[in-house]
Amino acid sequence: MPTHPHAPMPNDSPAADNNPSADDRRAHESLDPEDWQRMRALAHRMVDDALTYLQTVAQRPVWQPVPPAVQTQLQGKLPHEPSAPEKVYDEFVENILPYPLGNIHPRFWAWYMGNGTVFGALADLLAATMNPNHGGGQHAANLVELQVIGWMKEITGFPDTASGLLVSGGSMANLVGIAVARNSCAGFDVRRYGVADSAQKLLVYASSETHSCNQKAVELLGLGNENLRKIDLNDDYSMHLQHLADTIAADQQAGHRPICVVATAGTVNTGAIDDLNAIADLCQQHKIWFHVDGAIGAVALLADNVRAKLCGLERADSVAMDLHKWLHIPFEAACVLVRDRELHRQTFSLMPEYLQKNTRGIASGGHWFSEYGVQLSRSFRALKIWMTIKEHGSKKLGRMIARNVAQAQYLGRLIAQHPKLELRAPIGLNIVCFRFNPGNVSAAALGKLNRAILENLQEQGLAAPSDTTLRGEYCLRVAICNHRSRDEDFDLLVRETIRIGDSLAA
Ligand SMILES: *Cc1c(COP(=O)(O)O)cnc(C)c1O
Repeated sequence: MPTHPHAPMPNDSPAADNNPSADDRRAHESLDPEDWQRMRALAHRMVDDALTYLQTVAQRPVWQPVPPAVQTQLQGKLPHEPSAPEKVYDEFVENILPYPLGNIHPRFWAWYMGNGTVFGALADLLAATMNPNHGGGQHAANLVELQVIGWMKEITGFPDTASGLLVSGGSMANLVGIAVARNSCAGFDVRRYGVADSAQKLLVYASSETHSCNQKAVELLGLGNENLRKIDLNDDYSMHLQHLADTIAADQQAGHRPICVVATAGTVNTGAIDDLNAIADLCQQHKIWFHVDGAIGAVALLADNVRAKLCGLERADSVAMDLHKWLHIPFEAACVLVRDRELHRQTFSLMPEYLQKNTRGIASGGHWFSEYGVQLSRSFRALKIWMTIKEHGSKKLGRMIARNVAQAQYLGRLIAQHPKLELRAPIGLNIVCFRFNPGNVSAAALGKLNRAILENLQEQGLAAPSDTTLRGEYCLRVAICNHRSRDEDFDLLVRETIRIGDSLAA
């Protein structure tokens, strides 16, 4: 490594003194390791252990409960004195590492989350090593984020001129998008007067399958959840367009102001995709903001067997995409894109005197991310995205998505073939909802039986589906967002569901 001309030589430093006094040590203490060599050895062990852990993940149970003794250990009080890093690491290996959520395992299909990538995990180490703050300024990390946002525009077909922001997750991405929608379509200066000052009700529309985070966003933005109109569904759980059009018309007639439609590209319950082109047309006609919650589906534009269903997403005014789901970036990683950069900036920009930009030095560089979202200080989450996408390329990432969609169809066929299994919703994407039904069991007992099957599958560490209730009926839900799943894993799921179901029903 080149040495800076003004760098102090090692023997200039008091730490190099052979016998520093205790006072001297205290005066010069920092949070750096006392013994770099020892820390280096530990770091190598940590990396080795981490890679072994990931390489052997399929050999362990999907999940196991945290034993009470370990739970107690993890409730200790604030440590006042230092501990040897080796000892802290041993504690991690013993009490934390063996009890994961399970989402890195090939048979984890609960809720909706990605596996992460090995390179992404290493990237997080490097990101924390550089530890930049992404609020703004002139440094390479900011350029990495801009490049990643550029790639997201390429994936979605958004114009170069659009703006974007990396955020913690889909919830935050939707909040940002809906905030810009509110401020741009309210018809008055919301930042100045606040929504309480609105003469008209400001209305947001989404299907009744919209993710709960969109309701939270509407509530946090002061709009009130009564003003989030939940639109009826088609048989395939997508938004009913005539009901949407009728609701908007009736609201306009009543003197209210429709400001935003939140379409879903991949609902969390069943993977349904709303008719994005038709919703875009309607929004255009009524000058309503068209936001797409693409937390699940937006990145599926990379998959040959999904792309056509997402037609119209490129017309959105804003789109939320989750990267810690189907792109498998380690948590947390999501992106929001906004077609009109100026509207995006006007919603969030506030540059007080202590954040003034400059034309030279660190405060130069033009783009300040803090002008496009809620956070000022932000982590270097762009690096794990940048490294993972470069490592694999968009085509392979697309193949992983396409395979999960094919696996959902495969599981659907296994279910159709078995007389005691029932598919409970059309498989629109990568989510399969089904239940075990041995016949002659009441609806209530059927719900209980299937819940018990789920608990057994999870507690025996076999597989981790989750559950949901569709049109009033309980079912198991398999959300296949997993680059490690193989067809055999679904064979096992079906086999074990039947085995547990039969033994419970007997
Ligand atoms: C997961 C999900 C969200 C929320 O995203 P987080 O990353 O969990 O905050 C929003 N919408 C849909 C459709 C989702 O599946």
